[in-house]
Amino acid sequence: MEQHDVVIIGSGPAGLTAALYCARANLKPVVVEGLLAGGQLMNTTDVENYPGFPEGIQGPALMELFRKQAARFGTTFVPGDVARVDFSARPFGIWTEEGELRALAVIVATGASPRTLGVKGEKEYAGKGVSYCATCDGFFFRGQEIFVVGGGDSALEEALFLSKFGSRVTIVHRRDRFRASRIMSDRALASPKIRVLWDAIVEEVAGDGRKVSSVRVKNVKTGDLAEHACGGFFVAIGHTPNTSLFRTVLPADAEGYLKIQGNSSYTSVPGVFAAGDVHDHVYRQAITAAGAGCRAAIDCERWLEAEGRKTTS
Ligand code: NAP
Repeated sequence: MEQHDVVIIGSGPAGLTAALYCARANLKPVVVEGLLAGGQLMNTTDVENYPGFPEGIQGPALMELFRKQAARFGTTFVPGDVARVDFSARPFGIWTEEGELRALAVIVATGASPRTLGVKGEKEYAGKGVSYCATCDGFFFRGQEIFVVGGGDSALEEALFLSKFGSRVTIVHRRDRFRASRIMSDRALASPKIRVLWDAIVEEVAGDGRKVSSVRVKNVKTGDLAEHACGGFFVAIGHTPNTSLFRTVLPADAEGYLKIQGNSSYTSVPGVFAAGDVHDHVYRQAITAAGAGCRAAIDCERWLEAEGRKTTS
C-alpha cells in the first residue's frame, strides 16, 4: 500500500491551506474532503471579511479558489468521510469510503458543525421547515413567516439573508442583547423586515406532519407563551467541533475541541497536528482557520524533517 507523507482530514479553509503549504513543501498531501467538501463556507453567501476581496466573495466561490490553488501544486483529493483512524503506530492508518490510507503525518482539520436546539419538533421537521443553513434552504420560504433562533453573527447573517425571501423574519434570542458584532446588529435592527423577540426561547416547533406551520415561544422573563405562524425555522446557535472520530485517540476539552500544545498545532500524538475550528473555539473565522492550516503544515514539515524519516517525495 502506498505510504503518504501527509494526509489532511477536512477541506475547509484550514485543510486546504494546510494542503497548499504541504504541497509547496513537496509533501504531496492527500486531502480527505469530508461529506461537506469545502466546509462551512459552502453554506455561506457573501464573505465580506476575507482579506483580498474588497467587494466580498461568495463562500463556495472562495472555497473553489482555495481548492484550485492547493491542486495546482499537487494535492490529491479523496471524496467522502473518514470512518476510522489508527494513530497508535506509524505510519498512521486512515480509513475512508474509498479504502485505507497510510501516512507519516496527519493534519486534522475537520471543523465544526451547527448545534441543534433540542426542542420538541426540531428533529421531526428537519428538512421539512427546520433548517441549519439559510443559503441552502432560504429560497423555499419565499413569502412566508421565517423564524431564526440565536443572537450571534451567524443568526443575524442568516436573518438578513432570509429577509430577501420571507414576508417577515423574526429573530428569537434568549437574552436582551445580541452577542453579534456591532455592524451586524445595526444592520439587522435597521431592517424593516426583521423583528426581534428578546428574552425569548422556542419551546416547540409544530406542523401537520409534512411541514412546519407554527412555533411556540416563551418569554423567559414573564413566562408568557405565544403561538406564532411559521413556515421556515432556522437554528443558528453556534457549532460543535467534529471530533467524535478522535474521541478515544486525541485529548479534547469539555466541549470536544481538540487540545493543542502551547503555541503550536501539535496534538498529544507526535505526527498528528490540528488546525482550524476543530480546536479553535475563540476566533472561528475563515482567515484564522486558514492561518492555522498554514501553521500546521509548517509544523508538520519541520516535524517530518526532524524525524529524519525518508519521505515519499
Ligand atoms: P456564537 O457567536 O457562539 O453565538 C451563538 C448564539 O446562539 C448566541 O447568541 C447564544 O446566546 C445563542 N445560543 C446558544 N445556545 C443556545 C440555545 N441552546 N438556545 C438559544 N440560543 C442559544 O456563534 P455564531 O453566531 O455561530 O458565531 C461563531 C463565530 O463566527 C463568532 O466568532 C462570529 O463572530 C463568527 N461569525 C462571523 C460572521 C461574519 O463576520 N460575517 C458570520 C458568522 C459567524 P447567548 O448570546 O445568550 O450566549
